[in-house]
Amino acid sequence: MNIQTYKCPKCDGSHFKRWELPHPLILHWILNPAIAFNEIVLGTRVPKTLLICQDCEESLLDRGYVPCPSCGAMHPGRFASGMRGFRNWRGFSCPSCGKPIPCIWNVFSLLILLLTFPLWSLPYYLYFQKQPLKPLFFSEENKRLTPQPLTKRTWVFMGAAWGGIMWIFVYILPLLTGSGNVPGWVSVFIGLPISALGGFAFGFFMWFFLGRTPSRKKQGEQAVATVK
Ligand SMILES: [Zn+2]
Ligand SMILES: [Zn+2]
Repeated sequence: MNIQTYKCPKCDGSHFKRWELPHPLILHWILNPAIAFNEIVLGTRVPKTLLICQDCEESLLDRGYVPCPSCGAMHPGRFASGMRGFRNWRGFSCPSCGKPIPCIWNVFSLLILLLTFPLWSLPYYLYFQKQPLKPLFFSEENKRLTPQPLTKRTWVFMGAAWGGIMWIFVYILPLLTGSGNVPGWVSVFIGLPISALGGFAFGFFMWFFLGRTPSRKKQGEQAVATVK
């Protein structure tokens, strides 16, 4: 688990920024009640540790790695995010050694799991627990997806998908399962712009933190200039 044992697969550097507790983004994942929706409904899990290479000059998303504490492999962080990160309720395994990669839980997810324990415990212990964990990605998928660049469409799609899912789960599903009364239908229409705004904010947030090429590049050039 020593940080010195990890090496960036792209530049061979070992200078990483560590994203783990108490990093604000990780703390946000643990404490924000809305995240419970991602974990319980969508099955999005976040690894306990993310390493951001400080030597590569790419967008944050392309410099982020999920390290495997069991075998030391470095997996591109892109595979732990986006659409690929869904339906991993129990977490995921390392594609290299098959051991589970430690993930964090949101506190509200844990509370929901605790309260609904009688519902899921029996099927879980009888069936799901014995199933092998899904790997973070499949190796042939890795080859195919690595050269695919991130475009503006990626972020627009991400925001639209987020807003749409939010609209369906927060406004439409409760109405369909409930009485279907008039105020309920009104809330579906009020929910549309709210969800659209939420989706836009999500897409923007993802782009802002993950998609931008860092302004660090300029600092790097200055540093090179002073070395010369
Ligand atoms: Zn690197
Ligand atoms: Zn491993």
